Amino acid sequence: MKKKRISAKSRNLAKKTLKEKKMPSKELKIFKKILLKYKEDIADQIKHISDNTLKKSQRDAAGDISSYTLHMADMATDTYDREFSLDLASNERKLLYEIDDALKRIDEKNFGICEKCSKSINKPRLKALPYTRMCLDCQRGLENIK
Ligand SMILES: [Zn+2]
Repeated sequence: MKKKRISAKSRNLAKKTLKEKKMPSKELKIFKKILLKYKEDIADQIKHISDNTLKKSQRDAAGDISSYTLHMADMATDTYDREFSLDLASNERKLLYEIDDALKRIDEKNFGICEKCSKSINKPRLKALPYTRMCLDCQRGLENIK
C-alpha cells in the first residue's frame, strides 16, 4: 500500500483550494469512532433482542401448561412484545446498514456531505445523527414530499 506523505502545511493549502468542503481527517476519525461505538451498541441490542425473542419462543414451544394458563392474560402482551421486538430488531438492522454506509463514506472521505445538495451537513446534526445522508433542509424537503 502506498501512503501519501504530505506535510501538514501543504495539506492545509490544498484544502483551502478545494471547493467542496471535505471534512478534515482528524474529524473524520472522531466520527469514525462514534460510528463504530454506535455499531457495537446496536449489534449488542440486536443480539439482546434476538436472545429474548428466542427464549420466549422456546418457553412457548416447551408448552409449560401451568404458566400458560396462569399467564393467559399476558398472552396478547407476549405476542405483541415479540412482534415489537422483531420490529425493533429490523429497525436496528436498518440502522446498522446506515452506519456501515456512513463508515464507507468516511473511508471515501465524503462523509458529512449531503447526498442531495453536496453541501456540508452541519456539525450538530452530524453529532446527533452521525449516519445521516442529508442536510436538514434536504431531509425536510424529502419529508414534505412524502
Ligand atoms: Zn442537502
